[in-house]
Amino acid sequence: MIVARGVELLLYTFGEKHPFNSKRAELFFESIGEYPDILYVKPTQAKKEEISLFHTPDYIDFVFNASLKGIGYLDYGDTPAFKGAYEASAFVVGTTLLLAKQLIDSDEYYAFNPIGGLHHSMRNRAGGFCIFNDIGVTVEYLFKQGYKKILYIDIDAHHGDGVYYSFEMDNRLYIWDVHEDSRFLYPGTGLDSEIGIGPAEGTKVNINLLPGSGDKELLGYLTSLEEIFNRCKPEFVIFQVGVDGLEGDPLTQLKYSLNGYLEVIQKARELSLTYGNGKVLFLGGGGYNLNNINQGWSALIRTIAGRLK
Ligand SMILES: [Zn+2]
Repeated sequence: MIVARGVELLLYTFGEKHPFNSKRAELFFESIGEYPDILYVKPTQAKKEEISLFHTPDYIDFVFNASLKGIGYLDYGDTPAFKGAYEASAFVVGTTLLLAKQLIDSDEYYAFNPIGGLHHSMRNRAGGFCIFNDIGVTVEYLFKQGYKKILYIDIDAHHGDGVYYSFEMDNRLYIWDVHEDSRFLYPGTGLDSEIGIGPAEGTKVNINLLPGSGDKELLGYLTSLEEIFNRCKPEFVIFQVGVDGLEGDPLTQLKYSLNGYLEVIQKARELSLTYGNGKVLFLGGGGYNLNNINQGWSALIRTIAGRLK
């Protein structure tokens, strides 16, 4: 297993008082120590040409300029600008892209970028603590390499709107996204009826869980996960494993246990072996309870590291 680790990923922080701060990764990096069977890689910064595989030139310039000034907001109030925001975001994108390339080129089956999975940013704007969308950039990169069947799984408590709407009409990207009911949580999208448009109809699955839902509700949808693996037969799997659905998260009202969370990860691991080449790129996504983040991400590593090397 390949894990991205380095102070460069701690640069992606909106300040100590903001839920998305550098403590999240710092504690995790400390707690995993030198876990055996892990290949640690240093974060790398994406070039502007790489970011522009997904984002519009105007938006990239906007972030660049806001990053020089470091004041104001990048969206309507959730995502403040900070000095160096451009470089910090480019590190997140570059690292996810690096892990994707390493998975393709090596015998490793799994990779993890704890600060990756910034699923709310759109091609032309920021949203929900997400500046550049590392998932979108990676998907566009894979398309350019000729990949035609990519599966994106998202169990973060929030809907991955930046990924969904950017590829809503693209039948090369399958999406399975389970989140807290859109009527109760940001960004308010991802209805069950949103299944893709035009040629992409039927390639996306959105599942809404009522506030208070836990393992029983989540695990009840594993058959649906298998169905999409079967339909897609993915050439590449990206899995955003946000831990903000774990009970005790300050921003959401889902109540998954660590075991429930791990069961979905195990299932996706098995299914990617059955229906694909078995490789999975994991991205940390959200999660704002430090204890949950640490436990969730560490358990992810313990569960999958060392297997199928
Ligand atoms: Zn989230």
